[in-house]
Amino acid sequence: AAGTLIVGGGQAGFQVAASLREAGYADPVVLIGDEPGLPYQRPPLSKAYLAGKTDAEGLNLRPASYLAEHRIAHRPGTRAARIDRDARRLILADGESLPYDHLVLATGARNRDLPVPGADLAGVRQLRGLADADRLREAIGAAERVVVVGAGFIGLEFAAVAAAHGLAVTVIEAAARPMARAVSAETGAFFRAAHEGWGVRFAFSAGVTAIEGTDGRATGVRLAEGDVLPADLILVGIGVVPNAELAAEAGLAVADGVRVDAFLATEDPAISALGDCARFPSAFATGLGRDDTVRIESVQNAIDQGRCLAARLAGRPAPYGAVPWFWSDQGRHKLQIAGLAGPDDASVLRGSGDAFSVFRFRGGILRAVESVNRAADHMVARRLLAAGTPLTPEQAADPGLDLKALAT
Ligand code: FAD
Repeated sequence: AAGTLIVGGGQAGFQVAASLREAGYADPVVLIGDEPGLPYQRPPLSKAYLAGKTDAEGLNLRPASYLAEHRIAHRPGTRAARIDRDARRLILADGESLPYDHLVLATGARNRDLPVPGADLAGVRQLRGLADADRLREAIGAAERVVVVGAGFIGLEFAAVAAAHGLAVTVIEAAARPMARAVSAETGAFFRAAHEGWGVRFAFSAGVTAIEGTDGRATGVRLAEGDVLPADLILVGIGVVPNAELAAEAGLAVADGVRVDAFLATEDPAISALGDCARFPSAFATGLGRDDTVRIESVQNAIDQGRCLAARLAGRPAPYGAVPWFWSDQGRHKLQIAGLAGPDDASVLRGSGDAFSVFRFRGGILRAVESVNRAADHMVARRLLAAGTPLTPEQAADPGLDLKALAT
């Protein structure tokens, strides 16, 4: 048998391989990825690793011995170029072709480029992989003035680390508040104030029209209003584009991600997709988009989908339905999110000061809970959302409500 061939050696691809072996799958498992080295976790790249608090080895998901012991044939530095669906073969960039019984697309996402003149100047950086983080660690040591384009999770985590290094940091954001796509106005306001307390400045509702430079090096960021913010390091964090080209060129359905069904299968029964690159139907996305499908960029999603897909390939199919959850560490504050909220969902606040949760309702139904320095609320919220326990906004607003009792 040709077994399972996994494209993408990140969080999701590795999880499929590991879970296949845990599930007793006996056929070959081949894991190819275009990055060098062992599969590793990305979250510390904008947190502890960026801050110099952990080394590269500490990022690895498992040591090399694990892959050998579990007969996972890992081929780093290997790029997939094309899928031959009729022959069930994957063609690599160097022309070699590999057979498969089942092909798994776990190709993740790449950063969106800033579409303005000067975006290719030296000093303009992104953060996705270990190589980016290594370059940024060095750059932080040499920089003085930093501009972050995009007040999303990665931009804000980077800003917190750079500010702690004593750099002057300005964050430019097109929306009117931080993390506008993902969190409530209340949570956004808390993090804005926290960052301002660390010396970070913000420009909201602001557009970038150009990166200015001399001798090939960036010197500043030009705003739509005409001002130029001087900068010797510019971090662009304006979202990602799913790596769906392999699927699209093979004639599979793609729409901001590879389209899969509830079992993470594409319309070709021999090809599945998961993780950051995949768009799937989810009850948690009800009312968020046009068709109740979603593409989620999180470690939880990559791991739980990896387990779900491996179970199916090992003969125990079940639809994917895990509660989405996510975290972000910014300075000393921990944000945890359970469920999926939209920008227009109603907010109910519990707690105050540095420790609170925002319960988000859509159509009168609890859809998500954002917890700031309230880990216990986050755990309860995951249980409430998993069980579909009814909770009204009025109950959530009652400080006397025993949340924990409700979830047991
Ligand atoms: P990836 O981890 O991106 O892996 C995909 C791999 O496929 C990559 O190595 C890519 O190079 C490779 N690849 C792509 N195309 C090809 C090809 N044609 N041939 C071969 N290989 C290919 N999530 C959280 O939940 N909490 C956090 O705090 C958090 N922080 C993050 C911080 C940073 C800086 C980043 C970048 C992400 C963070 N995330 C966080 C998101 C999380 O890391 C991702 O959701 C997760 O890595 C997705 O896993 P994946 O396997 O789908 O994609």
